[in-house]
Amino acid sequence: MTNQRKTIYDVIIGSPEHLSAEEIYLRAKKRYPSLAMGTVYRNLKLMEDAGEILHIRTPDGADRYDKTTSKHDHMECIQCGQFVDLPTHDLLGLIREQTGMEIQSYQINAKGICSECMNKN
Ligand SMILES: [Zn+2]
Ligand SMILES: [Zn+2]
Repeated sequence: MTNQRKTIYDVIIGSPEHLSAEEIYLRAKKRYPSLAMGTVYRNLKLMEDAGEILHIRTPDGADRYDKTTSKHDHMECIQCGQFVDLPTHDLLGLIREQTGMEIQSYQINAKGICSECMNKN
């Protein structure tokens, strides 16, 4: 792994959030000032192909990158844009129980209001 790639990877691993390429770039650049945006994109693609990170494509807004690589879903806060993991495991079990059907593929595009924004309202 090159130093640049390691720096980018460390930024993703070290963040509890789901960062966009731009956010990853800005954070990695602090540690590696000569870093170029193109290098970030190239390395993100390499890490995605290697299964080290998950590339999340969102219908609106910037794509995000995730250190959790197992299949999982997300919810976006419509007020602050916070992007969090959605615990859908129980949901799939419930669906199987009620329909007898084992889901093979699905897509969830969940939007809501996060607890922080709810407290502010
Ligand atoms: Zn929010
Ligand atoms: Zn996630």
